[in-house]
Amino acid sequence: MKQESETKAKAGAVIIPVTAFEQNCMLMWCEATRKAVVFDPGGDVPKIQAAIQQTQVTVEKIWLTHGHIDHVGGAAELRDALKAPIEGPHIADKFLLDNVVASGARFGMTGGRDFTPDRWLEEGQSVSIGELSFDILHCPGHSPGSVVFFNKEMRFAHVGDVLFAGSVGRTDLPGGDHATLIKSITEKLLPLGDDVGFICGHGPGSSFGQERMTNPFLTGTAFT
Ligand SMILES: [Zn+2]
Ligand SMILES: [Zn+2]
Repeated sequence: MKQESETKAKAGAVIIPVTAFEQNCMLMWCEATRKAVVFDPGGDVPKIQAAIQQTQVTVEKIWLTHGHIDHVGGAAELRDALKAPIEGPHIADKFLLDNVVASGARFGMTGGRDFTPDRWLEEGQSVSIGELSFDILHCPGHSPGSVVFFNKEMRFAHVGDVLFAGSVGRTDLPGGDHATLIKSITEKLLPLGDDVGFICGHGPGSSFGQERMTNPFLTGTAFT
């Protein structure tokens, strides 16, 4: 007979791919309270709202990993619709949030607005939704103001575009720097533990252990 796990899942989540960049907007909620957060509403706000309605959770926060258009294009619109505050990214990405309309125009994305978050996030701070708490790690390199959200108890991180399954964030955009990015990953993320699973801004998630052992950018076998 199978024994039921003693610890019930503390959180639920759905991924909502948004924009032409197939960005992983994520709706995550605390199972105990059904309070929820939307990570990186990059656009397609009606699609995000439909997902919220379907899961019947109460969104109280909007969290941003960094300031790129595919992650923040729908943030101001969603804040207005839900009356939920925007937290993040780090203030070093202010130049991106001040230019949402301009960068949207470059990619043919309309409906975005320039905005200021209700709270900038910094290394060492924590944010919470319901009974879930996340530590903030400032991880520059892909963008100067990228932050990672880490839930210690669940061994889970949302890493934005810092790290991907088998790859790392691009560093050819304004403020990007490859050496800084690798430093962020090796000095801040990997030490959190091999068992930490993550989701990222694009494509499938992975774990820090899997990436530490096989990611060519971390094993030194990638041509950069
Ligand atoms: Zn990005
Ligand atoms: Zn992205």
